[in-house]
This record gives sequence, C-alpha cells and structure tokens, in this order.
Amino acid sequence: PVRVRLAPSPTGTLHIGTARTAVFNWLFARHLGGAFLLRIEDTDRERSKPEFTENILDGLRWLGLSWDEEPVVQSERIAAHRQAIEQLLASGHAYRCYASDAELAAMRERQQAEGRAPRYDNLHRDLSAEQQQAYIAEGREAVVRFRIDDGATITWSDLVRGEMRWAGSDLGGDMVIARRAPADAIGDPLYNLVVVVDDAAMAISHVIRGEDHIANTGKQLLLYAALGLTPPQFAHTPLILNQEGRKLSKRDGVTSVGDFRAMGYTAEALVNYMTLLGWSPPEGIGERFSLEQAAAVFSFERVNRAGARFDWDKLNWLNAQVLHGLAAGELRQRLQPLWQARGWGEVAGADAAWQEDLCALLGPSLSLLADGVDQAAPFFTAPEPDEAALALRADAGSRGALSALLERLPEGPLDAETAQGLLAEAASAAGVKKGVLMKGLRAALLGSLKGPDLLTTWLLLHRLGSDRERIAAAL
Ligand code: GLU
Repeated sequence: PVRVRLAPSPTGTLHIGTARTAVFNWLFARHLGGAFLLRIEDTDRERSKPEFTENILDGLRWLGLSWDEEPVVQSERIAAHRQAIEQLLASGHAYRCYASDAELAAMRERQQAEGRAPRYDNLHRDLSAEQQQAYIAEGREAVVRFRIDDGATITWSDLVRGEMRWAGSDLGGDMVIARRAPADAIGDPLYNLVVVVDDAAMAISHVIRGEDHIANTGKQLLLYAALGLTPPQFAHTPLILNQEGRKLSKRDGVTSVGDFRAMGYTAEALVNYMTLLGWSPPEGIGERFSLEQAAAVFSFERVNRAGARFDWDKLNWLNAQVLHGLAAGELRQRLQPLWQARGWGEVAGADAAWQEDLCALLGPSLSLLADGVDQAAPFFTAPEPDEAALALRADAGSRGALSALLERLPEGPLDAETAQGLLAEAASAAGVKKGVLMKGLRAALLGSLKGPDLLTTWLLLHRLGSDRERIAAAL
C-alpha cells in the first residue's frame, strides 16, 4: 500500500517549501488511494517549540491537506533510534569516534592546506582496543559514526529525477549518527538515522521531499542496507526559487503560509498555486483547479526537474479567480472576521443581509481578501474626502443638486427605481444635469470620485441611514 509522510521540524512556522512538499505528498497519496501521514521531527530539543507544531498543523488544516493517522512524534521514539544504533555498533557498521574538537579542527586545516573539500577523514575508524581504552581513561566522550566506504556506489531510481548515482566518496566520510556522550552511553541520535528508523517503522512506501535532501538519500540508503531494512522509493521535488532564481529563503520576506493567509490569500488559491510550482497539469484541467481535481490526475511524470520560480502575478490571478467564484454568502463568511477585527462588526444596520449585499457589490473587484477590507471601509465609517471630492463639494451646481436631493430623501426604505426618480427630480430642481448630481453624490458618500456602482452604494448606505449624514456633512 502507498504510505507517504510529511516530516516537518517544528523549529519555525509552516514554510511555503514544506507546504508544497505536503501538497505533492497529499496529491500522490490521494491519487493512489494511499495514506498521507505526519511525523513531527522534534529531536532538536532546543529549537523545537510546541507553538510551531501547532502552527504547522493549523496551516495544513487551513490548506485542506488532511492526514490519515495520529501524527508520530519523533522524540517519543528515541528507544527505537538507540536500539538501531546499538545494532549498527554490534554489526560493525558503526563505531565510536573519540576525536576532540581540536583534532577535528586540525584535520580540516590539513585538508584546506591540501586544497581538499572538508570531510571526516575516518580518523578513528579502526582504533585498536588499547587506543580506545586510552581515550576512555582520558575521560573523552565519543560520537557514534556510521561507516561510509569511499568505494561504495549508491544508485536509486528517483520518481522525478530518474536514475541517480552517488559515490560513497562524495558523502563526506563516516557520518555521525549519535551526538557526543560518555563512552558507555549513546548520545542523541541524529537526523539521517532517525529518519530511516522512523520511515521503516511507519512502513513508508515513498519518500517525497525537496531536492536539497538528495545527498541525505544516498546516506539513508546505506543505512537501510546496514540495518537490513527495505528502502522506500524516493521522489525529489524541485526547489522553489525567488524572482532572482535563487532558493527562496527567509530573506525573501513572505515565506510562511501564515504570512500569505494574513495578506488575504485564500487557502484554495495558495494550494492551487503551490501545486503549479513544479508540476505541469495535463491538458484539460487548466490552471485553476481544486486539490481533488489535481489528485485525480497527479503523477510524478509531470513534475519538472528544474527549480520553480515564484510568480506573484499568477498567485494573484488565481486568488482573484477563487474570490470571483464565491457566492456572496461565502465571501461574507470569510470577510466578516476581518471586518470584526477592524471593529466594524457592530455597525448598526449592517446585518448579515446587508453585509451579503455589500459582498455582492465588491466581490468582482477583489483580488485579495484584504481588498475586501479596504474597499468595505467607506461603507462602515465615513471616509475623509480626497482632493477631487473636496473640489467637487465646493462646486455650486453640485451643492445645489445635493441639497435638493437631501430635501427629498425619504426616512424609510428606498428602492432603486425611486432612487433614480429622486436623482432626476433633484437635478432638474437645481438646474443641473443628472450626471453632475451623481458625481456630487459619490463625492459626498464615498469621499472620492472612484468606487463601485453608485446606485447600489447609495442604497446600501441608505439602509444604515448614513447617506443623510454624509450628504449633510458635505454641504
Ligand atoms: N525534518 C526534515 C526537514 O524538515 C525532513 C526531511 C525528510 O522529509 O526526510 O527537512
């Protein structure tokens, strides 16, 4: 059975790269009717924080990337990790290395002087029993290292990148799998070892992760073999690049899913966009699709090897598509909390029906949810007039027509037909064209000559009783 996992480290908020890896895992699992699992890799005890785990789970939920089993917490599996290390020590695949920091630094200096790349020169690989005893007697602590033979060749068939081949000599020498500890103990197990032990225990069939893990895959395959475990298949997905074509990093500003959410992007658009970051949809589904639609046709054959450049225009376009496709009631549900946060929740008369009608008016011009806050603002609170609006308010013809309209303004409800009639009457009473009055009315109501459809705007404000106040204030 297909079982895939996302293995986030809770050392920061949910990063867009991790979320995109989650998307590909989810799509692959759903396409094949498999399971999508989570493992919280919290073995870095200093940097891991429960609030980051919460943030990651929240972000995945928000994106609609549901998982199938209770998340595995890596730190709770330390006994299994230690046991695997003991097994490797017993079978001779691993050994204790007592090299001190000073000795390791001297080794690196030597390598630099010889113009070699830094690596561990397997200094303590074949210590005699006497040498070991001597180090222990000195009170030295030891790491555990896993043997990586320079002559080894590691090959695998990557679902994205095809046939892969690594030389053991390119993996940096014997690898540390447990941190330093007194020689009779085993220190904290490290990433490559714990990932292999956990992926095997969780019966993961496919490891899908970013291509920055390719060298780790080489090391992990050697560990699978040494532990007598069957390795999963691997798929390495392309990196996300910034506008300059470099790996997207914290320096690029907006990189966490929560940032996008706070900026007013919808989950549907973000998850749609992340799917397009490195995957080319087949003919027929276009670029705007749901997760379910993508899952129906997802395969690694259409995942590109080249890095995927982040394209804000496309994300914005997708977000607008999503917003324009929402019914007014759905849009209200999403905007209401944002309005509430601005303190607009309790504006008298702005009930659910009124808010829904406002959404119907604004919806077609939104590309971010945040636009729905900016554009709704003048409906909830009287805006400061801009210069153009002030100039128009000073115009005699426009003022005359506005006061004629104010005199005729009914206290009770107003419908579109009556409103049109009132505009015509007031304009003719003041001796101006209807267009002059309409401009003046817009300036009085919205403090600007720009904005959505005037009649609808007026009727909405009339329902709050705000039209009378605003016209009076403009005169
Ligand atoms: N915790 C690792 C990371 O966040 C997981 C990598 C993996 O998928 O094996 O990069």
